[in-house]
Amino acid sequence: MIDNGEEFLSMHPTQRKWINKCSMCHHRGYKPNILEQLYPYPPTETRNLRCYFKPLALNNDGICDDCNKLLKQKQNETY
Ligand SMILES: [Zn+2]
Repeated sequence: MIDNGEEFLSMHPTQRKWINKCSMCHHRGYKPNILEQLYPYPPTETRNLRCYFKPLALNNDGICDDCNKLLKQKQNETY
């Protein structure tokens, strides 16, 4: 799979600030609230960012929802 997202970020380095990265699975996505922060005039690059990445929310530990669920499942198994 070609990493179009990485190519996009190398062309628009300023957009990296909007990228979240999960510290467990290293999955990347854009910060879900960017459009609210940039409303009503999000720059074109930032709108394009959404073509290459999906929204990715991280918890306080820098972990995405999916990993968070997995962690909780594992914790439940051990108890
Ligand atoms: Zn993750």
